[in-house]
Parts: sequence; C-alpha cells; structure tokens
Amino acid sequence: MHPTERFDAVVVGARCAGAAAAMLMARKGMRVLALDRGGYGTDTLSTHALMRGAVMLLSRWGVLPRLAEAGTPPIRRTTFHYGAEAIAVDLRPGDGVAALYAPRRTLLDSALVDAAWEAGAEIRHHHTVTALRHDAAGRVAGVVAADGAGHEHVIAASLVVGADGIGSAVARLTGATVQEEARHAATCLYGYFPDLPDTGTHWHYAPGAGAGRIPTNAGRHVVFVSVPQDRFRAELRGDRIDALRRVLRMDFPALAADLGSALPDGDLMAFAGRKGFLRQAAGPGWVLIGDAGYFKDPITAHGITDALRDAALLAEAAVAGSAAAFARFAAVRDDLSLPLLRVTDEIAGYAWTLEQAKALHLDLNRAMKREVAALAAEVVS
Ligand SMILES: Cc1cc2nc3c(=O)[nH]c(=O)nc-3n(C[C@H](O)[C@H](O)[C@H](O)COP(=O)(O)OP(=O)(O)OC[C@H]3O[C@@H](n4cnc5c(N)ncnc54)[C@H](O)[C@@H]3O)c2cc1C
Repeated sequence: MHPTERFDAVVVGARCAGAAAAMLMARKGMRVLALDRGGYGTDTLSTHALMRGAVMLLSRWGVLPRLAEAGTPPIRRTTFHYGAEAIAVDLRPGDGVAALYAPRRTLLDSALVDAAWEAGAEIRHHHTVTALRHDAAGRVAGVVAADGAGHEHVIAASLVVGADGIGSAVARLTGATVQEEARHAATCLYGYFPDLPDTGTHWHYAPGAGAGRIPTNAGRHVVFVSVPQDRFRAELRGDRIDALRRVLRMDFPALAADLGSALPDGDLMAFAGRKGFLRQAAGPGWVLIGDAGYFKDPITAHGITDALRDAALLAEAAVAGSAAAFARFAAVRDDLSLPLLRVTDEIAGYAWTLEQAKALHLDLNRAMKREVAALAAEVVS
C-alpha cells in the first residue's frame, strides 16, 4: 500500500512524552504528526507529582504558566515520614523552578497537546497505530494507523517515535530488546479527596508499605497507598476504599488521621503493578521515549519527569538526524535512567528497614540531582 502522507516524524502516543516531543520537534522546524488512540484531554493512571526536572523543562518550554493559571497549587514543602519521624524539606528556588506542581493529567497532557499544535505539529486523536512500514533496506519508514471509523491510513516518515506507553506497539513491532528488567512490582490504590489542609506533599514509609498525599487541582489531594502485589492479593482484595483505609490505619496512623472520614470523589483507581524495564532506545528509523522505552514503579513518582526528559533529549537527536546523534540519545537516556530504575526497584521491593529507606531516598536524590544537572547543562530543548 502506498503512503498517502509524508512527515519528518510520526509520534505514536500524544501524552507527556509524545506531545512534548511533537511540540519540540515542530518548534525546530520539523514536519510532525502525532497519533493517539485515546481522546484529547482524557485522564490516565497517575498520582501527578512532578519532580524538579519536569518543572524546569515545562518552565523552559513556556507550558508551566498554563498549569499555574488553571489553579494547580504550588508545592513548596515536601515531608518524608519514616514511621513517626518526619523530615520536612523546603524547595530551593532556581533553574526556573519556584515551586513543584502535581497537575491532573487531563490538564498537563492537553496543555502539551495545545502547545504542540501551536508549534505547528498535527495531532490526531482516535488513531491507533497497527503496523510499521519499512523501506527496501529494512529501515522503519512510517506507520499504518486505523482511525475511529476503522479507515486505514498509511503514513511515511523519516522517523517513527514510540511514545505509546508501557505496552508500546512500536517496541513490539520493532522487536526492541529489554536491556534490564526490575525485580519488584507493587500495587497502588489512590483517589481524590476534598478538604484536606494543603501542607505540601507528604510521602510516608512503613515496613512493607508506602503512602502519600499530594495536592492537585480543584482543591483535591491525591491519597495513595502502595504495597507489594502479594500483600495486596492476600489482604486487600475487595472494596477499594476499605482497603485503602485499612492500610492507612495499620501502617500510617498519622495519614489516616489527616484523612479522617473524608470520602473520595468517585471510585478509587488501582494499578495492579508491573516490573520496571529499560528497553533498547533506538534502531534504524525508530526511537522509544517515555514509558515505551523505560518504565519504573510509580512509588518514586518520576515517570512524567523522565518522559519530558526523553522528549527534550530526542528533539536534539531528531533535528541532527544522524546515527551518531541517536546513539548519543540512547547513551544519555541509559546513563540517566539506570540509577533511577535500580533505586526505584529497591524501594518498590519493600524489603527495607526505615533506616535503609532513608538511605535509598538519598540515593534517589543523588540520581535526580544528576539528571537535573544534565538537563541544565546539556544543550537540550
Ligand atoms: C498508579 C500510577 C501513578 C503514577 N504516578 C506518577 C507520579 O506521581 N509522577 C510521575 O512522574 N509519574 C507517575 N506515574 C508514571 C506516569 O504516569 C508515566 O510515566 C507517564 O504517563 C508516561 O508518559 P508517556 O507519555 O510515556 O506514556 P502514557 O502516559 O502511557 O501515554 C501513552 C499514550 O500512547 C497512546 N497509545 C498507546 N498505544 C497506541 C497505539 N498503538 N496507537 C496510538 N496511540 C497509542 C495511549 O492512548 C496513550 O495516550 C504513575 C503511574 C502509575 C501507573
């Protein structure tokens, strides 16, 4: 089948990795199409916390004011609770970061899609990529996508970007190898609670469990618990709100007291858990960014930050277009990701004492600082 359209880059998936990459490549003058099987402004699983690197990039890209204008509360204090011990850390302003934020994904992902449109990228929702096209040399050269009415579109592109999340079709269709797999997977339950006092973000740790509360839009807090999959299956099946309250009462009495008898808006959300992985980042004519290439347990709340990071690194490689530029993209992504993947896996294993948890958080902090320094120093978009 002959292609009906031709682009410099086709991006599969238009959330934080894909929409950001489309925006940045379009700003660099590339002709970009992003396709997403979902709808514009829809929700997805997330507890929303953006780390410093994400806020720095959103500020640099001019997207941060849209989140602030939509009433996303600034977060200037983060408190870590190890059992009854609380350690509060105030945000150090700098790098364009005056506060952290935890925007709802309906807001963040659509703000990035809007910015991508404004930059000249084309975004088509309700389009599912089902196959890849290859040239005579076997290089990936475009995609086949089905629209909402079931019509097939064949689109040629010099670069196909897989930004299509954990179950990435682009990773499957290219045969991207798994370079490292994590050992642990935790189950996460969360919901949106009104009327809690805003005292910043709180992360709580107890032997065998994690929990937290994070201020987000519309006066709501995300309240979550995270436990090993086995414990969830053994103790917590059934009514979700009852399960969340039971973990809080057993392991996090201070957070249970904060919550009181507050009821969530709507049903609680559940993520069954999945072991983290680092997949091969790139091959001839294709590249993976965000969760498509690298996923880690949500307990360290760092997936969005790394999705935006990958978009920034990719835009530099895509505009250069050389094999050397993509090899460098892959090397930098691996170098920054592996320490984060490994320390996240240790934390998500829940086999630590509280003193060991503190040490793991110091390791995590070092890996995050290294990433922020790299993003500040690199010539990245
Ligand atoms: C319970 C939970 C809580 C989390 N909390 C946080 C947090 O607090 N902070 C944080 O930073 N991260 C968090 N994360 C991780 C974060 O949600 C992900 O890292 C982030 O969504 C990755 O973005 P992405 O753009 O790579 O992929 P996704 O957000 O998964 O987007 C992929 C897109 O690709 C589209 N797509 C898939 N297949 C196709 C196809 N074949 N054709 C077309 N489109 C396709 C999908 O429709 C989707 O819109 C959490 C994750 C979970 C599960």
